[in-house]
Amino acid sequence: MSILHFRNATILDGTGSAPFTGDVVVDGNRIAEVTPAGRPSRAAPAGATVVDCHGATLMPGLVEPHAHLSFIDQATPKAFHDVPVEEHLLLTLKHAKLYLDQGFTSCFSAAATKPRLDIVTRNAIDSGQFPGPRLRAASVQLTVTGGLGDLRQLKLDPGDMMYTLPCDGPVEFRRAAREACREGVDVLKIVPSGDTSTPAVPSGQTLMADDEVAAVCEVAKERGKRVAAHARSAESVRMCVRHGVDVVYHATYADAAARDALESVKDRVFVAPALSVTWTRLHEAGHYGLPSSEAIRARIQRDLDATVECMLDLKSRGVRVLPGGDYGFLWNPHGRNARDLTYFTDLLGFTPMEAIVAATAWGGALMGGGVGTVQAGQLADLLVVDGDPLRDLAMLEDAGRLLAIMKDGAFHKAPPADLAARARAAA
Ligand SMILES: [Zn+2]
Repeated sequence: MSILHFRNATILDGTGSAPFTGDVVVDGNRIAEVTPAGRPSRAAPAGATVVDCHGATLMPGLVEPHAHLSFIDQATPKAFHDVPVEEHLLLTLKHAKLYLDQGFTSCFSAAATKPRLDIVTRNAIDSGQFPGPRLRAASVQLTVTGGLGDLRQLKLDPGDMMYTLPCDGPVEFRRAAREACREGVDVLKIVPSGDTSTPAVPSGQTLMADDEVAAVCEVAKERGKRVAAHARSAESVRMCVRHGVDVVYHATYADAAARDALESVKDRVFVAPALSVTWTRLHEAGHYGLPSSEAIRARIQRDLDATVECMLDLKSRGVRVLPGGDYGFLWNPHGRNARDLTYFTDLLGFTPMEAIVAATAWGGALMGGGVGTVQAGQLADLLVVDGDPLRDLAMLEDAGRLLAIMKDGAFHKAPPADLAARARAAA
């Protein structure tokens, strides 16, 4: 096994501790040792490969907690459905590489848009055929007839509609969940509430029944899978907590009882508001020529305001609020995912350090552990950054500032020959 020795790094370890100067030794695919400056390293033998960081920041790879690698930067879910599966797989693999290029070494998927896209992409990455982040592969969204994402119409052939899988009643949900498990997902995605984008089933409407959510959660528990939920209405959030959903997306209209419920399980549940898809729809969608009217803008603004108010409260209650922004729509394209960290400081009152912890250590916990911090024993997913992200989080949006990207102990992006000069220039 090869041993790699990062020297003279400013270590931002993801735990929330202040950065310190030191060395990190990577043995194979794991971090063997983290040594503050002045203490001798025990793990680095004389012949180890040395990367002198010259004071550049060494931090954990970023985690995207709400990834849709098979969304294809189009305006409507119908476009995600219409692309043939062959082209769709190529686009999904392309997005996987893009995320790793941007420093995202882990992705927790919030749904695929055809049943096997995430699974096949994860397997291709894990076997080394294609570059990409660690991926927790998700099912398509399990919804109800007429629910969010049910694109079927009686005038059309319903046979091949795959963007979501409509199910009705616990028997159908259980069957769909088991089928997704059989195919190899890590995450079962459900859609217990509506959304602002679909006026017929708005955000505040609860769409799944209690026994339907229970059925999916039961299957997940039996098979060792995770459950992720699009839950904007108060009752949908309460259902998620009742039945043990692992990650609640949006939680827009969580009322006092729903917030109390989330707080009561704060050691196991994660909440991710997906701010970017809403913020950009309000403030940037015009650049893309998307329809905008007073009524549409008012609806989106209301969702955004409610989400922000709720997240501020959940944060104060100690609930882990994670970034992750539903990237992959025309107005919110893939690759800009690190913008979420800035939303967290600007809208939710996170300090830059809290935003980093949410995007690394907490994201790592959502992944199932083993990643997200620079600590001995962790898997070696590391970034070398040209500057101090705590001074300007936006630098993480610029792949050019990432001097090196390591995943699982191997460089996806090797340190440049002029690392010394660039690190000195940034200091
Ligand atoms: Zn989503």
